[in-house]
Amino acid sequence: MAQNSSCRKRPNILITGTPGTGKTTTAAALAEVMELRHINVGDFANEENLTNGWDDTFDSYYINEDLVCDALENLMEEGGNIVDHHACDFFPECCFDRVVVLQTDSSVLYDRFTKRGYSDHKLASNTECQIFQVLLEEVKENYPDDIVIILRSDSLEDIAKNVETLTSWISNWSPVV
Ligand code: ADP
Ligand code: MN
Repeated sequence: MAQNSSCRKRPNILITGTPGTGKTTTAAALAEVMELRHINVGDFANEENLTNGWDDTFDSYYINEDLVCDALENLMEEGGNIVDHHACDFFPECCFDRVVVLQTDSSVLYDRFTKRGYSDHKLASNTECQIFQVLLEEVKENYPDDIVIILRSDSLEDIAKNVETLTSWISNWSPVV
């Protein structure tokens, strides 16, 4: 997917992080405030039938990453997307103007998983995913440091603060010329 950020009139933002860190809550709030398009990649893949079977660890369908990228190409070129997903390595680097990694204290996250009624296996693998900062490593491997921002998401106040931070960044963003 060839992309050129200068073609976009509004920025594309990826919101990633371990399941349960608040990606969807944050992305939905931000999209509403800034009138941007919220793309929940898992939901999109399900709706468009771009899946390859069930992933027990992340409690979601394996998405067909190539097909998802192709299907999102035009929207990404247009800009103004808040992309919400727990993986990031299959999107071309130039898709995003900002990559946000949400981080939650592992004990806080553990409580959220328990409330969701996760199985022991899923609880352990998702908590480990946060402890070992799997998503942060994946982001660092795939995107330049200067577009990556790490935000804490332990409390509802954090969400409000993060939406404010991102709102202000989006308002000040202008296309590269
Ligand atoms: P994700 O999309 O990353 O899996 P969600 O946004 O679906 O996470 O949030 C999972 C659950 O945790 C929801 O019940 C949500 O209300 C709660 N939650 C997420 N982030 C926070 C936070 N920062 N403070 C309190 N509760 C949160
Ligand atoms: Mn989600």
